[in-house]
Amino acid sequence: MSTYIDSHLHTGFSADSDTPPELQIERAVALGMPALCITDHQDFDGPPDVMDFTFDTDAYRKTLLALKERYRDRIDLRIGVELGLQTDIPTDLAAYASSTPFDFIIGSTHFCDGMDPYYPVFYEGRSEEAAYRSYFEEELKNLRAYDCFDVAGHLDFVVRYGPNKNRDYSYEKYRDVFDEILRVIIEKGKGIECNTAGFKAGLGHPHPAEAILKRYRELGGELLTLGSDAHTPEYLAYRFDRAGELLKDCGFRYYAVFKNRKPEFLPL
Ligand SMILES: [Zn+2]
Ligand SMILES: [Zn+2]
Repeated sequence: MSTYIDSHLHTGFSADSDTPPELQIERAVALGMPALCITDHQDFDGPPDVMDFTFDTDAYRKTLLALKERYRDRIDLRIGVELGLQTDIPTDLAAYASSTPFDFIIGSTHFCDGMDPYYPVFYEGRSEEAAYRSYFEEELKNLRAYDCFDVAGHLDFVVRYGPNKNRDYSYEKYRDVFDEILRVIIEKGKGIECNTAGFKAGLGHPHPAEAILKRYRELGGELLTLGSDAHTPEYLAYRFDRAGELLKDCGFRYYAVFKNRKPEFLPL
């Protein structure tokens, strides 16, 4: 059983989960994890027809700080956030990030072209390749625009949702935009995550896929976190053993866990 620390998971503070945070923590303790970082969705200014993916920051911190205290002898609970990146929104994301003492911030792109790529309408009236490319270009724009994140979330998660999912998808097809995304991340001193929800979705690869993880390493990328993106306890640390082997095959020796927005490196 893996003791890799999970740095991406959700609780009932996220609109798409009704799991009490205690259950995620209990599961992590049962798995023998020395630490855990909860990262609920904070996606300001989403499209009007999409669920509200925001939480009350004071309530979130109050609840998680109390749990951190309650479980202090069993696990080192960290308070993170999955911050939705978008440009041209009224919310000042940088001000929000700097005014809230999070341990860890995942910068994720969940919306593109005024839509949520989770829904079929995102793929209508264009090829799947064009829709995927539009999403990757949106990520690039967001990652260029912001510095208020520690790692970029699930870089290629959009391939879960297209009509043919990842059947026709490869790093090579989008090499130009991925290379630029990785360069921007590295130049900014940020990292990426290896998100194992791709396995859960039946894609046979994490997010991002092996070729992109390998390319990140090749370009000098070293900062990488591990996340299951679990919305329920049974998916906590999902396929982490497999991810660990895969990351070693891609040339990584360490993964990172954040505390007070600073990485600690642990062996894979
Ligand atoms: Zn996400
Ligand atoms: Zn997530």
